[in-house]
Amino acid sequence: MNISQLLHRTALAHRERPAVFAGTQLVCDYRTLADRVARIAGHLRESCGVRSGDRVAIFSANCPQYLEALHAIHWAGAISVPVNYKLHSKELAYVLENSGARVVCVSPELHDSALDAGAAAYDLLVFGSAAWQAAVNDGNPLAMEDKRPDDVASLFYTSGTTGRPKGVMQTHRNLLATTMAYFTDVDDVQMHDAMVYAAPMSHGAGLYNYAHMLRGAKHVVPVSGGFDPAELVELAASIGHLSLFAAPTMVHRLVDHIRRSRADVDGFKTIVYGGGPMYVEDLRNALDTMGQKFVQIYGQGECPMTITALAREQIADAAHPRWAERIASVGKAHASVEVRVVDTDDRQVPVGELGEVIVRGDAVMAGYWANEAATHSTLRNGWLHTGDVASMDADGFLTLRDRSKDVIISGGSNIYPREVEEVLLLHPQISEVAVVGQRDADWGEVVIAFLVTGEGARPDDAELDALCLDHIARFKRPKSYRFVDALPKNSYGKVLKTELRNWLVKAD
Ligand code: AMP
Repeated sequence: MNISQLLHRTALAHRERPAVFAGTQLVCDYRTLADRVARIAGHLRESCGVRSGDRVAIFSANCPQYLEALHAIHWAGAISVPVNYKLHSKELAYVLENSGARVVCVSPELHDSALDAGAAAYDLLVFGSAAWQAAVNDGNPLAMEDKRPDDVASLFYTSGTTGRPKGVMQTHRNLLATTMAYFTDVDDVQMHDAMVYAAPMSHGAGLYNYAHMLRGAKHVVPVSGGFDPAELVELAASIGHLSLFAAPTMVHRLVDHIRRSRADVDGFKTIVYGGGPMYVEDLRNALDTMGQKFVQIYGQGECPMTITALAREQIADAAHPRWAERIASVGKAHASVEVRVVDTDDRQVPVGELGEVIVRGDAVMAGYWANEAATHSTLRNGWLHTGDVASMDADGFLTLRDRSKDVIISGGSNIYPREVEEVLLLHPQISEVAVVGQRDADWGEVVIAFLVTGEGARPDDAELDALCLDHIARFKRPKSYRFVDALPKNSYGKVLKTELRNWLVKAD
């Protein structure tokens, strides 16, 4: 089934339902949305020669046309290639070449960057251009292309922190499984609900459009094009029933803004967080400030948004004897997948022991585009090997330690940065922290903490040492504390530990 059937059906049954908003401004209803999508699909076919299975890239910040382009690509039976709009032109050039894109859909402000990346060699379709407007207003609508579940719907390029980015092949089945997983394990969606795209639509946030298309809910694209806490508060107040996906660093900023401004939070329905570690102290603050509005997901491009979920009820159940452990976990396996923790020979490890997380099920990718070696090493014995280190408790709750590449080995002992980070965040003056390893002749690696302070005096090293010694073994204590104005983050709000390690190498 073509995943755009979800839009098509809603457009048939609920024509006049408001579909897309730019801020508080209604852009179009469902009938108009589906009509535009079919006409843009017609343009892709007739004017750009796009056939079923061709790749069409989208290089754009969040904007209402993003949804139109994405569904037009599905509708035409082509494969969407959403590209992080903050990529360097060389990285964009690589993605376009590797995917063999036929067309690049681009927002006007990124037109020049796209040209720098050699996009002139491809057919360019600029949002809002004369060609776009002609397609939207007078183009011939295309009948939706039929798709089988295993046909590739989208190529999601990994961030490439360990080499060249790889194109994750997400099939129509994968996207449908991820959509169903939203309803079973994340949240119910009603017509009066609204999904606001505060995180990049080229990443996980964009995938939540399908569940909201199916239910005929509203799709709100912030006028800022991204994450602005004050704007989100205003949208929640005026549109109401607002849900969003946010990286934990965004949750931290939103909660901070709401605490300072004492803004009303009634208009927020659900905040789904994931994509990186949510520190327990931050979650407690978020719950105190906004109430029971939080659900956590754990996923990766290779199994989008759908490995485990920590439900609202579990986060709310403070009376549960294992609540503290549970809110530090990423929850239980999504209904549609099996999740195991295994050793290096793929044998399941005992309850509570550390190993690699592996996943099997309908949400798991078909493989990497044109990269059989990477596909074989990641999809082994029918299981996706995530590269994440975790333990599972007797109740089935999974606790992530770190990416295996972030583990610090000091004097032969493994140190999981997250454990040290959780402790440092207990200090009231510390607002953000990232712990990495630095090469050391005696110990192999030593622990270095990068810290961002909030209001008040900066704590001294002795104070931080004492805090660590109160909570964790002596050998895990950082050898040095470095105060910085901000941590380096990617456009998805993830802390770039590779960059921190590079800072340390340069400082040597
Ligand atoms: P990406 O493919 O860019 O979405 O990155 C996926 C990686 O982000 C996972 O393999 C995890 O290492 C990390 N991640 C995703 N969700 C969570 C979460 N809820 N808690 C901690 N780390 C997460």
